[in-house]
Parts: sequence; structure tokens; C-alpha cells
Amino acid sequence: MSQRIKINTLLQSTQTDVDVTVKGWVRAFRQNRFIALNDGSTNNNIQIVVDFENTDPALLKRITVGAAISVFGKLIASQGKGQTVEVIAETVEILGDCDPEKYPIQPKKHSLEFLRENAHLRFRTNTFGAIFRVRNTLSFAVHQFFQERGFVYLHTPIITASDAEGAGETFHVTNFDLANTPRTETGEVDYKQDFFGRAANLTVSGQLEGELGAMALSDIYTFGPTFRAENSNTTRHLAEFWMIEPEMAFADITDNMDTAEALLKYVIAYALDKNKDDIEFLTQRLLEEEKQKPQNERSEMSLTEKLQFCLSNDFERLTYTEAIDILKESTPNKKKKFQYLVEGWGTDLQSEHERYLVEKHFKKPVILTDYPKEIKSFYMRQNDDGKTVAAMDILFPGIGEIVGGSQREERLEKLENRMDEIGIPKDELWWYLDTRRYGGCPHSGFGLGFERLVLFVTGMGNIRDVIPFPRFPKNAEF
Ligand code: ATP
Ligand code: MN
Repeated sequence: MSQRIKINTLLQSTQTDVDVTVKGWVRAFRQNRFIALNDGSTNNNIQIVVDFENTDPALLKRITVGAAISVFGKLIASQGKGQTVEVIAETVEILGDCDPEKYPIQPKKHSLEFLRENAHLRFRTNTFGAIFRVRNTLSFAVHQFFQERGFVYLHTPIITASDAEGAGETFHVTNFDLANTPRTETGEVDYKQDFFGRAANLTVSGQLEGELGAMALSDIYTFGPTFRAENSNTTRHLAEFWMIEPEMAFADITDNMDTAEALLKYVIAYALDKNKDDIEFLTQRLLEEEKQKPQNERSEMSLTEKLQFCLSNDFERLTYTEAIDILKESTPNKKKKFQYLVEGWGTDLQSEHERYLVEKHFKKPVILTDYPKEIKSFYMRQNDDGKTVAAMDILFPGIGEIVGGSQREERLEKLENRMDEIGIPKDELWWYLDTRRYGGCPHSGFGLGFERLVLFVTGMGNIRDVIPFPRFPKNAEF
């Protein structure tokens, strides 16, 4: 038997009248004659033609939707419409039966909610096949972008003992018997007796450790899972998500913005090129979905157009203060259409405000800089005005915040003062402060939420649909 060939290769084949072996899962079986076979290498199926008159009826009965089969036959130029090549089957072997009465994935449209409950099988649908191939391409492109620029991929720890950043939003890591935790004399949980000899948690960000790497390797990036126990049941938040966090020595906030914008454009262009069929499929899917909406709620651009648009336009850069002025004067604010009205300088922007700026006002991706220090983290570099910090957030249409970053405070005294002001224990972060003591330098970095990027590129509406097995409040199935 000739070696198995993947369907994406077969479909591009110019050489016909050759023997081939193809394996995959049946997507449809029409007229006891035409099998649509898919193996996940592309969202296109190969057509297998079965000579049913000369095939054992018992075998034909086992060619059902979802069954795994192996086909040996001849690749020929297709007679029918819709495909250039097809395989005339000589032998069909059933590798795994699939009971059509019980198989949850039927050849019809399933709701995304139903498929979420069947996440173990949803890879077998066109939509999820496309999403996870795009996700794969994007993660490869992220590495390629940084590797081409000499960044070092640094693995920061998943388990950390510093709770400096995500106070209260972390998952604890312990091997205590929870019904029987050792106590101190004063009745508190005695973490000294726990595995790490102290309280530990799952990381919310690799940034602080990333900075340590950058202070010697110049440019590093992390790309790993992060965990947040925030009880936000939104379409933009997961309890476990992947984050890309570059950290660059000798880089200021402008370098930081330039890198983030270049990264986003690079990976989007890469996916558009590499996953043409998948993105075309997802574009059509979105058009169909939007037909259900009233005309005025449909997007002006198709998914592909939106991605192209993002590549060919500079992101709009403005300060938080300028954004507040725009929002204050905006129609939804004046007509009290915002759920949270923008009254003055200093308040945090809600997702509805971010989306107004991006989708209605500028109609393109926006980078907001120089936020009030009160609403940003302690490590962000303090501006000379004494009120703002050198933060930068990138806001995307349909998503809101996709990147959060800043130039870091490299001046020891200013950093320590800020930590004192907001009550962050300096002794716990002695190692972080050491980088400011020993050869500190201006540096910058950002965090890109990987699933939010995948959301944008696939045009999906719910973050639970762009990670294989989503973790969110009250759900850790699979
Ligand atoms: P948001 O305000 O949307 O909750 P954040 O300010 O908490 O975001 P950061 O702490 O700056 O976000 O994290 C960096 C990036 O990680 C964000 O820009 C976003 O893309 C992503 N991100 C943050 N929280 C989540 C989450 N719970 N699920 C998925 N992605 C997230
Ligand atoms: Mn958050």
C-alpha cells in the first residue's frame, strides 16, 4: 500500500492517475456513493467515490458520519463540480465505527453553545477545525516574529510565590489536606508547613521575572499560560489563558508601541497568507451569523476586510487624557447611553468606552498612552507631570483591550516610593528591586492576550470558542 497522504496535499496535487492511501473521518456519505472525507489538514474535504454495486452492503452500512476510515484508490481529475480531484476507491477499511444514532456531531448546523458542551468532539466541525488551525498558525508566527528579531524565549514560572500583582485574583497552589490545614499558634494557616514553605499561587503574569531576563539578555519574550481567579463571566475573560509578554532593555514607550503594532500586523498577515481557506470559511460564517442581526448592527466590513484594514493602517495613538475629552463629548455619553458615564479625568475606561473609540470614533485600532497612575500598576514609569504613567494599551475593534504594556520604572527611589504609597511589600520583591540596584536601565514590555488575538483573527464572538478547553467560573470539564 502506498503511504498515506494528507488531504491538503492531495487537493493541491497536479499528478493524477496515481494510487493513493487517504485516511480521515467521514463528514458525509451521499447516495451510497460519495464520501466527503476530512482529516483536519484543511477544512476542505476530499471526495471518495465508492463503487457501491461491487461493495459489501455490510461495509457500506458502516460508512457513517464520524467514522474513521482508510481508503486506497486512484486519484483522478474530478468529473463533478466543486472539486478538482477525487479518489476512486478500490478498498475502504473501517478503522473506527461511529454509531450515527448516538454521535452528537450531525451533518447540520449546531449552536456554539451545544458544541461547547461537546468540546471533546467540536474539533471535527468546519468552524472549530478552522479556528484551531488559525490558532496554531498564530502561535507559530508569534515565535517567528520574535526569533527573527533576536528575542530570547524565556520560560517564566507557572508557580510563583509573589502575589504582588494580582491581589486576591490568584489560584492557590498547595498540597495541604484542605479539611485539615496546619495552623499557627494564632490560628492562621501555617504555610511554613506547606510544600513550598510559603503560600504559593499560579502566575497571573510572567512580567516581573521577564524583566529580570531582559536585564541581561536584552530582549526576551514569554509565551505561556496565565491564570486569573477573577469571577468575570464575560466573552473576553478566561480563568486560564495564554499570554505573550516581551520585555525589552533600552526601549522606551514608543519602541514598545512600535514593537506591539509590528507584532500584531506580522501575525495577522502571516495567518491571512497561511490560512487563506480557513479565514475565507470564517468570513462566510460570520456573514451568515450577521444576517440574523438587524442591518444597523452588522459590521461594515467582512472579516477578511477587517484584517486587511488592520494591516494597511497605522494604529491611532493618543493619550488617555485626549481619549477622555473625546468620550466626554461623545453622543452616547451626552445621551446617557453608556452604562458608565464618563464624567471626569481619572476613571478607568470600561469596555464600552474602549469600543466606542475604536469602532465609532477612529474606526481603527487605537493605542492609548499615559494613564493616571492610580488606575495602573506600581511598576509603570512615572511621567514628569506627577499624575500619569508611561502606560500603553492597544484597543481592537470588537475586542477592546488586546495589549496592556508600559515603560517600566527603572529609578529605584521612585519605584520604592510608589510601592510604599500603595502598600506593596518591598521585602517580598527584593529580587525585583535588585535589578534597579545593579545596572538598571530604561526598559519596556507588554502583555498580549493570545486568545483575544485569536478572537480577532477568527471573527468569533466568545473567547470560550478559541481555546480548546476553556476554563471559566464553574467549568473545568474535559
Ligand atoms: P481587562 O481589563 O480586559 O480585564 P487587564 O487590564 O486585566 O484586561 P492585563 O493585566 O494588562 O489585562 O493583561 C494583559 C492582556 O492579557 C490583556 O490586554 C488581555 O489581552 C489579556 N487578558 C487579561 N485578562 C484576561 C482574561 N481573564 N482572559 C483572557 N485574556 C485576558
Ligand atoms: Mn482584567
